[in-house]
Amino acid sequence: MGQISYDFTDETVIVTGATSGIGRAVARRFGDAGATVIVADIREEPKEKAESAPTAELIEDGGGRATFVETDVSSPTEIVSVIEAAREFGGVDVMVNNAGIYRHASLLETDVESFDQVFGINVRGVFAGCRAAARDMLSREDPGSIINTASISSEYAQTGHAMYDASKGAVMMLTRVAALELASHDIRVNAVAPGIIETTFGSGNPEPERHVDDQFIHDEMEIPEVSGRERDPVIPMGRMGSPEEMAGSYLFLAADDASYVTGHLLYADGGYQIV
Ligand code: NAD
Repeated sequence: MGQISYDFTDETVIVTGATSGIGRAVARRFGDAGATVIVADIREEPKEKAESAPTAELIEDGGGRATFVETDVSSPTEIVSVIEAAREFGGVDVMVNNAGIYRHASLLETDVESFDQVFGINVRGVFAGCRAAARDMLSREDPGSIINTASISSEYAQTGHAMYDASKGAVMMLTRVAALELASHDIRVNAVAPGIIETTFGSGNPEPERHVDDQFIHDEMEIPEVSGRERDPVIPMGRMGSPEEMAGSYLFLAADDASYVTGHLLYADGGYQIV
């Protein structure tokens, strides 16, 4: 089968959550395609021992240009700082808002701190990334492309996924509204919706800080078993996806090949959403 080869020479691409997993594969693919890549993550060292070198180092070792900027996407100020860092390389051309976390709990068991943490990273992070990148592109009069990482969870509910599915539904709608508002400025906004991908997703996330005492009510309560339908993950292609299999969708949406594509949710899920 053929492979598309992209050329992002002279383009600056920010990828959040690019130290591990999907973001790392996306960053590397942009690096291979000649882009200057800014790896924006809370940690520089990958979670996986097997993922030896930091992403920026790997890209540079392969002859590309990359730098790491420590960034917590839940902080809009830190997002603005990473956008400013891109100005050193001519300004952001492609913004990939990919960082995200997962927490498992039924609605009845979900505590407010965990909910706020998931929304702080998965939703506020994407909102702040879209806003900061678009403001910067407009101020430089140099429109580009924004790509968010949504999920099959954007449209498919599962028990235990109250926080996560709601956050990814929000990412889908943020993508659509941003696409609508920015279309006349030639800024395209799209999302990739990965299926079940082999990463260390869900592990190694920091615990949320506890401020609100809703745990008290929680402890006093008898929490009934959740009786909803646990959807078995049916993947028509019969296997999980790899981070590398996600990367091409991001490059396509960023490239001129997708010049008339905006507000789109591109599933890369082995057919999960069909059944
Ligand atoms: P991962 O845990 O391997 O990578 C996530 C990266 O985000 C890590 O490098 C982590 O350090 C970083 N990160 C976490 N919190 C951050 C913060 N506050 N600021 C900046 N960086 C932060 O996970 P992944 O599977 O590669 O997930 C990447 C994205 O893909 C997420 O948005 C996730 O919701 C989405 N997704 C994953 C799957 C899957 O099955 N793995 C499926 C659908 C969607």
